[in-house]
Amino acid sequence: MTNGHPILILPEGALRTTGRNAQRNNIMAAKAVSDIVKTTLGPKGMDKMLVDDIGDIVITNDGATIVEEMNVEHPAAKMVVEVAKTQDEEVGDGTTTAVVLTGELLSSAEKLLDKGVHSTVISRGYKMAAEKSQEILCDIGTKISLTDEPLLKKIAETAMTGKGAEAAKEALADISVKAVKKVVVKEGEKHSVDRDDIQIEKKQGGSIYDSELIEGVVLDKERASDAMPSKVENPKILLLDVALEIKKTETDAKIRITSADQLLSFTQQEEKMLKEKADAVIKSGAVAVFCQKGMDDLVIHYLAKAGVFAVKNVSESNMKRLAKATGARVASNLQELGKEDLGNAKLVEEKKISGEEMIFVSGCKNPKSVSILVRGGTEHVVDEVERAVTDAVGGVSAALEMGSAVAGGGACEIELARQIREYAESISGREQLAINAFADALEIIPRTLAESAGMDSIDTLVKLRAEHEKKGKNSGVAVLHSRIEDMWKNGIIEPLKIKVQAIKSASEAAQMILRIDDVIASSKKSAPPMPPGGMGGMGEY
Ligand code: ADP
Ligand code: MG
Repeated sequence: MTNGHPILILPEGALRTTGRNAQRNNIMAAKAVSDIVKTTLGPKGMDKMLVDDIGDIVITNDGATIVEEMNVEHPAAKMVVEVAKTQDEEVGDGTTTAVVLTGELLSSAEKLLDKGVHSTVISRGYKMAAEKSQEILCDIGTKISLTDEPLLKKIAETAMTGKGAEAAKEALADISVKAVKKVVVKEGEKHSVDRDDIQIEKKQGGSIYDSELIEGVVLDKERASDAMPSKVENPKILLLDVALEIKKTETDAKIRITSADQLLSFTQQEEKMLKEKADAVIKSGAVAVFCQKGMDDLVIHYLAKAGVFAVKNVSESNMKRLAKATGARVASNLQELGKEDLGNAKLVEEKKISGEEMIFVSGCKNPKSVSILVRGGTEHVVDEVERAVTDAVGGVSAALEMGSAVAGGGACEIELARQIREYAESISGREQLAINAFADALEIIPRTLAESAGMDSIDTLVKLRAEHEKKGKNSGVAVLHSRIEDMWKNGIIEPLKIKVQAIKSASEAAQMILRIDDVIASSKKSAPPMPPGGMGGMGEY
């Protein structure tokens, strides 16, 4: 009918792969990402050094950071990066686990595809297994509450393992737990933590041990003038989002000054207005003022004379933090300042940290926003400590939010796999194969941990499965001791939410990738026509 001519429906230069090839390529790309981060899993995980195009270096074993910095191009690989990002946003820890799991689910699927099982069957089986997993996980979890401080600290420490903060793990865990406890919101039985309420500020210099919790806010700024006191104790605090200067627009109206007298009275008028602004602030009773906008030199002069500590051009996010920490209301009208607008802190102080000024608003009575100042000898150390503390804070928050924790070291995954296999037996049809493949994939976590500890991974898995059959749901790989132990007793404890979220995102991504049987990549519109017989493979440019 077409006289042997192909019908072209795609623009020239478009690339299309279909069927098994498309699936194979996608799986390969996704697995490539997961293989890269796999060796970083656990306390003996290795680090990656990432160098960007301008030569900046990041050294980390944080899954989310690695996949983000890698700048992957392949669409299926990008879906794996999304898994890490979601995990990072939802929980703040467990990113490597989620990525490795996605890769392994796809590996297991590939074996079934090779045996001729259709991808929709695999996808359906995975969905069933993932749903069942959520149920089983809730059963496996142990209840945890706000008062279980030792347990919360263990969770923080587990989250920090392998992150270069090892030495100061206990001190940082303590700080992280205290920080979360300050800002946690209780609604009946439920707890929630807004991670924006814990500001993690890093400053290079000093040692990790100099890291501290500030019950208030740290600003990477200086006070408005050296003439102001460098610290004020128990000050009333005023937060302003109006400028303490005369805005251009106020005086921009065409004013024609024709005589020296007029000029004088005009400047006098301006000075008077500025003095009124300063007076309004002073009269409010505030001894520390944080202003989101600018401050005229004259206002600064008057405030300094009155012994007021003032900071100008504070960012909006820091204003919000200050309000939450000090209990002050952000005021926008100088004429209507009242006592109820003012907040409190024990100390407002400018301090030199490693040669740079920072402002500390500390000792707030009931702060709903706190700060962690992270210190470390070099840029790379502070960065890694910051990531460790972020994970610790995320871990503790996640534990409180779901109110449940599980044993780490792969214990939870082995137990889940065991129960999923039991469930598979109740399912007839080919989905059973997929559900069993799902269970196998879960064991990638203990297997990888065993490998990182130099243990024989097959032996270890066999032993672990046997122990779990005998009701040892906490048996896992004690990586640091290179043997199987009760991980709960060992204090290797993780929030249930990490597992719940990791399994959810990993299985969703795997299902999505499996259902794709056609990849159509159109060439970019702006692509110049290829020179005849010239350079192929110039790609998109
Ligand atoms: P993720 O980005 O997934 O959090 P990590 O590198 O933090 O990756 O590794 C987390 C895994 O390491 C979890 O399975 C956790 O249970 C395990 N783990 C952490 N500390 C230990 C330990 N001391 N012994 C055994 N396993 C541990
Ligand atoms: Mg972790």
